[in-house]
Amino acid sequence: MPVLKRIAEMQGEMTAWRRDLHAHPEIAFEEHRTSAFVADKLREFGIEVSQGLAKTGVVGTLADGDGPSIGLRADMDALPMPELTALPYQSTVPGKMHACGHDGHTTMLLGAAKYLAESRNFKGTVRFIFQPAEELAGGGRVMVEEGLFDQFPVDSVYGMHNQPNMPTGRIAIRAGIGMASAASFKIVVHGRGSHAASPHHGIDPIFVGSQIVSALQSISSRVTNPIESIVVSVTKFHAGDAVNVLPDTAVLDGTARSFAEDSETSVAGLIRRIAEGTATAHGATADIEYRHLYPVLVNAEAQSLIAENVVRDLLGDDGLEPAFPRTMASEDFSFMLNARPGCFVGLGTAFEGRESHPLHSSKYEFNDEALPIGASFWARLVEMELAK
Ligand SMILES: [Zn+2]
Ligand SMILES: [Zn+2]
Repeated sequence: MPVLKRIAEMQGEMTAWRRDLHAHPEIAFEEHRTSAFVADKLREFGIEVSQGLAKTGVVGTLADGDGPSIGLRADMDALPMPELTALPYQSTVPGKMHACGHDGHTTMLLGAAKYLAESRNFKGTVRFIFQPAEELAGGGRVMVEEGLFDQFPVDSVYGMHNQPNMPTGRIAIRAGIGMASAASFKIVVHGRGSHAASPHHGIDPIFVGSQIVSALQSISSRVTNPIESIVVSVTKFHAGDAVNVLPDTAVLDGTARSFAEDSETSVAGLIRRIAEGTATAHGATADIEYRHLYPVLVNAEAQSLIAENVVRDLLGDDGLEPAFPRTMASEDFSFMLNARPGCFVGLGTAFEGRESHPLHSSKYEFNDEALPIGASFWARLVEMELAK
């Protein structure tokens, strides 16, 4: 695999770091051990360390001469879910797992930091940004709001995510819109409880809630322009305690995704109108909460081109994944991309000759063969963008 020689030599060391992090997963804003692990390593490499931004965030700064500054970001958090891999280094914390490969992301950025601190084949400033709470808690937003780029100025910022469905040895880049915005909503349907055998004595919130679930699907199929990609999913529906009792209330939760901020805003209004209107039609009422979580992720043209050139330089033309489809999934790196131009790249991590379980699966496994590729991408990106 064409990676930087010094980084290839670090394969064993990086694998050990990755597996250590994997065995000790920590979820949103609780990444204390991980954060200390990262800070210790950076100090060991001779890199200036700042801790405490967004609680457990870490920023390392490595400067050499006058030149531009570049931010490289890795996320550190795990997910609140059990691990079912039976790997020798599987999670030691019940109910928590690195199922999105953020242990790999953290390790690859540490590997690049070690290499760049040794080789210093660049002119300018590198900021190594280790952020907490990527999974739905918006650690990236909190870091930006707490002054990440005021305290640690950068001209551009880059992020990376592993792609277990893409061959190892390939990197995918997509200029423009790459990932959707995300919002969450909660609908509480207030009916009137009654005996299950006498529904006419009450107002059944389960029936009304079911009508709302169906009607919400009209947003993407009948109300918004089919050219716009919009997804509305009801993901929780909780009501009732007994077989022979119709409850007073039903609670529905869900998520909405789209590729345009203004269509998401119109979706918020549509969800409200449909939920309230449907409830009214059946004599019930509905309370709706709607929260914008993550903005649309947009990769800048110039930085996408730079990243593409780095991939061709490092892995050759075959290293560039020909298609990187947009996804309705979301990423809080979008908050950093809204603050500074940059690019979010996809790193192929599929296992060769065996199944690669998807992200967020309890059987997901990060492919350590990809560690030197990701770390080499970071290192070459710095060497090329901050060329001497
Ligand atoms: Zn994830
Ligand atoms: Zn992730």
